[in-house]
Amino acid sequence: MKNCIFCRIIAGESPARIIHEDEHLLVFHDTQPQAPIHLLLVPKKHLARIQDLTPTDKELMGHLLYTASSVAKNLGLQQNGYRLVINNGRYGGQAVFHLHLHLLGGRPMHWPPG
Ligand code: AMP
Ligand code: ZN
Repeated sequence: MKNCIFCRIIAGESPARIIHEDEHLLVFHDTQPQAPIHLLLVPKKHLARIQDLTPTDKELMGHLLYTASSVAKNLGLQQNGYRLVINNGRYGGQAVFHLHLHLLGGRPMHWPPG
């Protein structure tokens, strides 16, 4: 997707502080961190929203969650915990319409999120 900032990062056309890459995912630091550690886990496939998932994406979503768990473990976040967030659609607070998972850690999180 030409006008998608995350597709541009995936294509290497826009800079990012990448910490992990595999066949299906890119993981990089959020440019406006909301916690001491704030990463974005981004499927390389452009899916705008959760409702665009199809049955063929089930394995990709499992891989996304599993990678979040292993990245968090590598960063030493496992003991204190961390938060995983998907903002979906307008009311969900989504700003970039390329499906992604936020991984936030390094401080206590609050609930409800507001
Ligand atoms: P949301 O769509 O609400 O889940 O949030 C999108 C997130 O992407 C925000 O936390 C932004 O700070 C972040 N973001 C936007 N552009 C970039 C970029 N070029 N590199 C890294 N993070 C970005
Ligand atoms: Zn995209």
